[in-house]
Amino acid sequence: MAGARAVHRRRVCCCAPSSASKRTTSSGESGDESSSTDAPAFPRLPPQKKTRGGIVSAVNRENIRGLCGSSRFAQRVRSDRRRAAADPQEKHVLVIGEPGTPKLDVAKMVCLESPRRKGDVRIVRCGKMKSRRRDAATQLADALDVICPGGIALLSDVHELPDSALHVLRDRLDDSPPRHPPGEGVRLVLTTSRAMDTNLNLSSLSTAVTTIKVPPLRVRAKDLAAETRFFLRQAAVASDVSNAQTLKGVTPAALRLLEAYTWPGSDAELQNVLQRALVHEIGIAERDGVSLPTMLSEDVLWPGSEGPQSRDKRLRTDLLRLWPLLRQAMRSELWMDGFMQYVVRPAFAVVVIGLFVAPQARADNAFLNVFWAWWWPGILLLYPFVGRLWCSFCPFMAYGELAQRFRLKMLPQVPLMNWPRDALDKGGGWFLFALFAVILEWEELWALEDHAALSSWLLLLITAGAVIGSLLYKKRVWCRYLCPIGGMNGLYAKLALTELRAEQGVCSAECSTYGCYKGGPAVEPEGMESEGCPLGVHPAQLQDNRNCVLCAECVKACPHKSVKVNFRFTADDILQPMHNATAYEVSLLFLLFGAVFCHHIPEASTLLQMPEAITTAVTKSAQSVGNIFTSRPFAWHTGLATASLAYPGVLALAAHRAAGSRGNFVREAYSYLPLCWLASIAHYLDLGMGEAGSILPAAARMVGLVDLAPRLPVLVASPEVIDFSQGLCVVVGCLSSLVLLRVLARRPWLEIGWQCGGMIVLSAQLWWLLLVA
Ligand code: SF4
Ligand code: SF4
Ligand code: SF4
Repeated sequence: MAGARAVHRRRVCCCAPSSASKRTTSSGESGDESSSTDAPAFPRLPPQKKTRGGIVSAVNRENIRGLCGSSRFAQRVRSDRRRAAADPQEKHVLVIGEPGTPKLDVAKMVCLESPRRKGDVRIVRCGKMKSRRRDAATQLADALDVICPGGIALLSDVHELPDSALHVLRDRLDDSPPRHPPGEGVRLVLTTSRAMDTNLNLSSLSTAVTTIKVPPLRVRAKDLAAETRFFLRQAAVASDVSNAQTLKGVTPAALRLLEAYTWPGSDAELQNVLQRALVHEIGIAERDGVSLPTMLSEDVLWPGSEGPQSRDKRLRTDLLRLWPLLRQAMRSELWMDGFMQYVVRPAFAVVVIGLFVAPQARADNAFLNVFWAWWWPGILLLYPFVGRLWCSFCPFMAYGELAQRFRLKMLPQVPLMNWPRDALDKGGGWFLFALFAVILEWEELWALEDHAALSSWLLLLITAGAVIGSLLYKKRVWCRYLCPIGGMNGLYAKLALTELRAEQGVCSAECSTYGCYKGGPAVEPEGMESEGCPLGVHPAQLQDNRNCVLCAECVKACPHKSVKVNFRFTADDILQPMHNATAYEVSLLFLLFGAVFCHHIPEASTLLQMPEAITTAVTKSAQSVGNIFTSRPFAWHTGLATASLAYPGVLALAAHRAAGSRGNFVREAYSYLPLCWLASIAHYLDLGMGEAGSILPAAARMVGLVDLAPRLPVLVASPEVIDFSQGLCVVVGCLSSLVLLRVLARRPWLEIGWQCGGMIVLSAQLWWLLLVA
């Protein structure tokens, strides 16, 4: 990282008055006064010694900043400040701002911009007085007497003045022009966080003083981008980062995250968050020997305790504390490296080869039975309990990681690339949506469920994506952004009853290694050696389950037991006000819903009383796939498959529009998630409760034991039980989605009538397709 950092400390100043400006860099934000040319030149005064036991000191003229940005609040503070500084009556000044706002800096700028700046300008720290034994009134009087007439006393935090000293302050406030001519006496500039509730009742002084109110950051969301750029550069310069000037701020996604936060600690809190993020990035850059990124991503930004994880903690139970054995298991070798190595990789190789070489007929191929009747329904059933856990022992990535290790061993001199995050953030989701759409069409048109070799090709296709991604980029770029199965897993994981999160307070107070995210060697007391989160997320930063595969790498790496696996309400991610609702994810949701309709095209064509030619075409198209460009049945089937995939999304959008809804369609569309998930389950119940139970005879026939097959046990539910289960899924899915819609929309039932109607129509059609047709 030698190339990334170099020693060149500089002061950074935003809106600084400026003698300092010659020694500082400016943030250069629009609306940022540092770029204005009207900043007066301040003389460099001889350094003044601290006096009166540290209560009085010279005003530090460096590192002073005002408010960055161009919001009306920032502009108002600037004009108030200039007016107060140039006030010919030299009224005293009161600067009010919540804790964390730069009110002291604003007060200093008033001092340093006023005509008195050439005189005696000193700061009196009121907060220091109460801890001392001497009578506070005498202390304050002495402190003010130190300042020569014609100077300025900047009294910081006057709300902390002991009551016994208030009469001194009152007297001094009365001593203002016209009681003495301008330029004489001592002008007072006060700062406070509480103007109303002090005995002095500063707010009642509004006629005697000029008041400047410094707004908190939460009302200045428009200024966040400018503030962020400024603080980042300031932190980079303070950290001796050589390319500090190339830091452009944060990515759009990160900015959205910051904007959604309420910033109770105002500017000071933002500064801390950004400093911590930069330390994070510097650590990674040092470890990997690369330059800092020009934009910080949302993964390294943790807006404090009210941030993305500000959920009601009382409604969560940490399962790792409740069941220490679970914690032990997650920290063991078997989870998941050992399992991948000894079980998943060999088993996957056997399935893929078996699908190619075994008999291709469905009834005679146990691997086809495993793939379609066990594997897919099994994954679907896992979501509500453990979210995306499937991805932590996924065979596709088992080979992707193997390929990555091999590649690093063979070509250690060629490092893996960093992820092009911006491009992937924008396009990754749509890529996986498109790939999933192609796969679903392929599955329907080529009747993949009945073709063992084609099913194997499907597995190899996804494995190829995982391997290529791992050969080129660090960690699991394929899983984070591009894998269609991963997209589906991430979507359904939002319904899960469990979540993995880290305690932000512990992370920010105790951790300096961030091994959970970056990886690194073992750290006392109990952090294990780790490669860091494979999906490049920080567990303290997770807003939902989408990007966590429960691989437990962070549980192993964390030295402070900060990582928790919480039990929570289902669908909690979606109910959060900060839920990151995206258009691509909603499109994927409706695509998956459409897949259920797509798999029932023959029944649908009967329901819709389509001409017999079309119904026949659908059933025959699979035989004409060798001639796809000229085959009419194939064309009909393609059209119907595409229409079915699009159907639920189009209907839901039409219902939303018909209602003339005020709500946000993308956000409210997540209410279809329970219905979509249960519809998929209902579809696979036919296989899971039926064909799955005949795996033993299928295995026997596959290996040539045809005579043995009929004597082997078969466990198949009766059609009535399957029908009942399917019906139950549709009804429960519909009711859950209706309730979720009402909660997300936060409007009366009457106002969401059209959307409810759309849901009920889709459910009724599903019922008909699954149970009646
Ligand atoms: S995202 Fe895809 S490749 Fe990655 S682990 Fe999940 S299913 Fe496997
Ligand atoms: S290693 Fe543990 S304490 Fe440190 S940042 Fe990660 S989760 Fe927090
Ligand atoms: S947050 Fe932890 S469990 Fe989740 S993917 Fe990252 S390392 Fe694995």
